[in-house]
Amino acid sequence: MCESSDMAMRGCTRKCPVTSSPHVQLDARRGTGNPDVMNTKETTTLDSAQAILTRLVQCPSVNPAGREPIAPPYGEGRMAALLSEQLKDMGGEVRTDEVLPGRLNVWSRFAGRDRSRTILLDAHSDTVSHLHMSVDPFGAEVREGRLFGRGACDTKGPMAAMLLALESAVRSGRLAHDVIFAATCDEENGGRGARHLVTRGLQADFAISAEPTELQLVWRHKGIQRGRITLHGMAAHSSTPARGHNAIYPAARLVGQLEAMAAALSAGKSDAELGTATLAVTTMHGGTAANIIPDSCVLDVDRRVLPSEDIDAIRLAIEELVHRACAADPWCTPSIDWTQHYPSLGSSPTAPALLALETALRTVTGTAQRSVAAYGTNAGFYAQAGIPSVVFGPGSIADAHTAAESISLAEVVSAAKVIEQFLCTPIVDTQ
Ligand SMILES: [Zn+2]
Repeated sequence: MCESSDMAMRGCTRKCPVTSSPHVQLDARRGTGNPDVMNTKETTTLDSAQAILTRLVQCPSVNPAGREPIAPPYGEGRMAALLSEQLKDMGGEVRTDEVLPGRLNVWSRFAGRDRSRTILLDAHSDTVSHLHMSVDPFGAEVREGRLFGRGACDTKGPMAAMLLALESAVRSGRLAHDVIFAATCDEENGGRGARHLVTRGLQADFAISAEPTELQLVWRHKGIQRGRITLHGMAAHSSTPARGHNAIYPAARLVGQLEAMAAALSAGKSDAELGTATLAVTTMHGGTAANIIPDSCVLDVDRRVLPSEDIDAIRLAIEELVHRACAADPWCTPSIDWTQHYPSLGSSPTAPALLALETALRTVTGTAQRSVAAYGTNAGFYAQAGIPSVVFGPGSIADAHTAAESISLAEVVSAAKVIEQFLCTPIVDTQ
């Protein structure tokens, strides 16, 4: 049991590895450092990466995704407790916000030499479901240099890289600017943790959101708008359908119109890097029994949004389509619940901190590649709040959410070195 140590892994029912210690251990063994890499090789090793990532993966934090009540392995509470102790041990003043019942953000500020700038290191603490995996989701088994388990690459591996980098920089007194480390809840089901952080007035000059980007700088990505459309009818005995109002019929018309809208998007304006916007009907549920005229039909729609698009206009266009589909049936009363919105990310290519991170990446790995993504991240929330943001981390999105999720520990170490190099280098304005 993790409670065997003084570390507050309260509620974590997984056994700790025999070699684990109460806090993240940044291995004291010395490597042969490249002098250009600011001694980062001195502190972060495969062993230290494995130690912290093991602890994170063995502490389940599955997004409940609407499930109530929240009980292990669901919810981010245990991770919040674990990270609180870790951040306190690093000397940070820890703030905890209960964003939703039993679901917490944890964040802490660390003072740098130049306090005129603040860097936000964001890593979401939730994972997708642990069910139907082919490996032990919370076992943190290591094979051939890869650590397996739910969240290993999305996004506990990238979070581990941030923690390793931050701890090394803080302990050696080389933090160039103030840093806020934030572990945010609910990224996988609406991003309410990051949204809450922004709403309560978070201020930073640059944000890195930890996600598995294969050590590439994802500086642009699409946004997401999800909506749940309900068409209401009236139930009746199926032998007398005229006495009821069959909600499936206008829903079927609507699906056809949404398909046409999706086709138009796919043939429409294309972003040079991100491609076109997309739309998909992802669920459809109507009716309750074979002998009852269905009194409702519910659709989920997933719309992927380009940085250049206006979210209000997108919602309006879908709402108009819904009302048009119902126009032929005066009894049809539609409702739309805009369930989830992740803003797109469209950073300035010349933001000083982005250039600084790019330089750190090139210094440590010998190469620096920018890329874009089709998925949404917390970075969109920060960018929307006016904070230049980028997505960065070890691991591949191709391994995220999979039955045998895993990450290369060597890549976690590389990411940690890049982030540490960045955190220890003063950011200089380019203009
Ligand atoms: Zn993620």
